[in-house]
Order: sequence, then C-alpha cells, then structure tokens
Amino acid sequence: MNTITQQTSLTQRDRAVNWHPYTQMKTADTIIPIVKGEGIYLFDNEGKKYMDVVSSWWVTLHGHSHPYIAQRIFEQLNTLEQVIFAGFTHEPAIQLSENLLKLLPVNQKKVFYSDNGSTAVEVALKMCIQYAHNQGNKKTKILAFKNSYHGDTFGAMSVSGKSFWTKPFESMLFEVVFIDTPNTENLKDLQSQIRNLKDEVACFIYEPLVQGAAGMLMYNAEDLSSLMKFCRELGVLMVQDEVFTGFGRTGKLFAANYLTERPDIMCFSKGLTGGTMPMGITTCSDEIYNAFWSDDKHKTLFHGHSFTANPLACTAALASMEILLKEDTQMNIKRITHQHSEFVKSLAIHPQVENARQVGTILAFDFKTEYGTSYFNEIGKRLYNEFLQRGIIMRPLGNVIYLVPPYCITSEELDFVYQNIMEVLDQFRN
Ligand SMILES: *Cc1c(COP(=O)(O)O)cnc(C)c1O
Repeated sequence: MNTITQQTSLTQRDRAVNWHPYTQMKTADTIIPIVKGEGIYLFDNEGKKYMDVVSSWWVTLHGHSHPYIAQRIFEQLNTLEQVIFAGFTHEPAIQLSENLLKLLPVNQKKVFYSDNGSTAVEVALKMCIQYAHNQGNKKTKILAFKNSYHGDTFGAMSVSGKSFWTKPFESMLFEVVFIDTPNTENLKDLQSQIRNLKDEVACFIYEPLVQGAAGMLMYNAEDLSSLMKFCRELGVLMVQDEVFTGFGRTGKLFAANYLTERPDIMCFSKGLTGGTMPMGITTCSDEIYNAFWSDDKHKTLFHGHSFTANPLACTAALASMEILLKEDTQMNIKRITHQHSEFVKSLAIHPQVENARQVGTILAFDFKTEYGTSYFNEIGKRLYNEFLQRGIIMRPLGNVIYLVPPYCITSEELDFVYQNIMEVLDQFRN
C-alpha cells in the first residue's frame, strides 16, 4: 500500500469510529495520523514532520518518546504494572510522594493520587467541602477567578469561568462566586467581596500567574500573594491549581516559587509524568489531612479511582522529575525564558500584535483582529492551518497565539519558530 492511501485509510477509519476532544466533527479539517514522536518532533505516516511547540496540550516536557522515561516504564512494566491502592502500596508511589513533597511549599504534607487534572481538582474541592463538613460546618460556595479553567468534569466545570463550553450544563453546576484577577487597583474591592462571603466559602481556587485555557492571561505574583495573605487571615482555604504551571513551565519549578504565601491544597497533572502517562496529584497540608483523621468512619475521604497511583505512571513521573532537576534541563528552561523575553520585545512593536506577554517558557500574544477575542474566531483556524503547513503545531486559542515548547527545544529551533511567526504575521496583515 502506498503512503497516500495509507493516510487516507487511517483518516477514514478514524472518522468512522473516533470522536475527538473539543472538535466539531462535521466541520473538522483532516485529522492527521501520527506514527512516531521523537524529541520536539511528531511524524505523520507520509513522513512529514511537525514541530510540537504546544507540547501536545502542554504535557510533554522533555520531548516525545524520551528513551530514559521509556526505559524506566519498561522496567516497571516487567515488575509491577498495577495494584489496588486501597490496602496496598508500592515503592514508586512512596518515592514519588517523598520527592514531590520536598519540592513543594513546606506545608504540603500528604499526596492523594488520581489520573488527570480534572480529577486532581475534583479531589481538592471534595477535600475542602468535607473539611468543613467534618467539623460540623456547611460551606458550599466556591470562590474562583473569572476566565479560569480547571477541567471538564462537573466539579471542575463548575469552578471554571462560564463560557460556551459550559453553557449546556449551566443549570447543573454548583454555586461559584467569580472575582477578577488581582491588580494593584482592585485589591481592596476583591477583599471586601471575599470578606462578605467568608463564612459560606469552602475554598478559593485559582490558576497561579497564568490562566491557560482562557488564552494565557497573565497576572502579577505580588498581587496574588496579597490576595492569598488576605484569604489566610480570613481562614478561607486556598487551592492552587498548578496542573499547567507545575514542573518548570513558569521558569521556576512551580508557580508557588514566585509567591510569598502558601496554599492549603495543590493540584498537579500535565507535566507531572513528562507527558507520558496520565496521572493527577492533589497534595494538602496536615491541617486538611487531620480534619479527616478520625475513629469516625464518616469522616473518611471516600474518593478513589481504579488506577489510583498506577505504578507505571508513578515511575514515569519519577523519571521525568529526575530529568527536570538535571542541570542541563534547568539551563534549557533559563535559555528558553531568556530567548522568549527577547522575542517578546520584537513582537510588542509589531502592528499586528497586542499584549505580547511571557512568563518563563510560556509566551503569548493577541493577534489583532476587528472581531475581538473569541475562541470562535475564524482567524485561529486559519493561523493553525498556516503554521501546520509550515510544519509547526500551534493551536491558537481564538486569536491568542502561544508557545509552550518542550524544554529540549534548541535555540535554533526556537528561532525558526519565531521567524515563522513573524512571516505569518506579515502575511496576515490587515
Ligand atoms: C488542563 C488543565 C486542567 C484539566 O486537566 P485535564 O488533565 O485536562 O483534565 C485543570 N487545570 C488547569 C489549570 C489546566 O490547565
């Protein structure tokens, strides 16, 4: 079979049976079959290669099919692939919890495993609501930021900003009070809103520094620290969703490293396993944990998933974190951060660009259009296809173009991407 028919047939077979995420299947462009991944590249079955500068939905840290992570998973696969985590434990889960907690704010003491970012958030919300319940209090409201995104399951959807994504389910979502992200001007106002709600609020959940899915919206670490300090003083529990920002994305190991206050609970996924295996983690302080510690079995956290603390995923995370902490990787993160910050300067003066912004390895800007920012923006689709033709995978969020590359991208490869961005900007000039 020649490759053309092979691709056609894969695409047709896919269409016959698969329903893709966030995809209007009727109007979707051709879905590309990928047969191999290596470093920052993905290869389709016609041999065309694509630079994956969105890290396959922000998960791939060290490049695709990393040989060291693959080797470690293979060894674990031949030793212990899965075991029920109720009543049993294993070395990879213990080691991973030990290693991770050492890197987190010192108040983070316990690790609860699940299998994706949304479930990590669900667990966090249940911890907070039951924390109150176990002490005889009923707190059912949640505080969150406008434009937030915390996942697609019902709890995670509830605490995510309202949008057409959540529209069909709106009447079934629980009560959440949405506030603006903090800045120097609105801090007083936010404080009074929180003060009015403090007795009813189970927790405050937020994406630190960057609101990813809403379009890489960035806000200031000092302002967040001030808001967190205020929550701490009022006794409002804080859930820091580092599903996206964790593991070096923001230039430091965690967004927490930019903040002067500590959250009560933290959520991780995406980069946790270097993008190799699905896994979610919710960590918490002793104060949270102790509210469940009881002879009364009603105070148990009744939550778990079949694949809780899957040994393969734990091993992948251990291997990925080992690579992340290496001198070379840390240098790469610094290099990308620096290179981005130089490129942001040239973007900022381009007539087609608004809000060029960056934190660490995350770079974003708005493509100026007459229609304003919206996910529906046709321009997003046109830009996506243009970059794809150039062998670069970018997935604009509406008119927001962003880069979230794997840390192994070289400076030449980054320059190549920058150059293509400039060319596309000129090409699409209105
Ligand atoms: C992606 C994301 C989630 C959801 O993670 P999934 O693994 O896709 O369920 C939650 N929070 C944030 C901040 C995210 O970026």
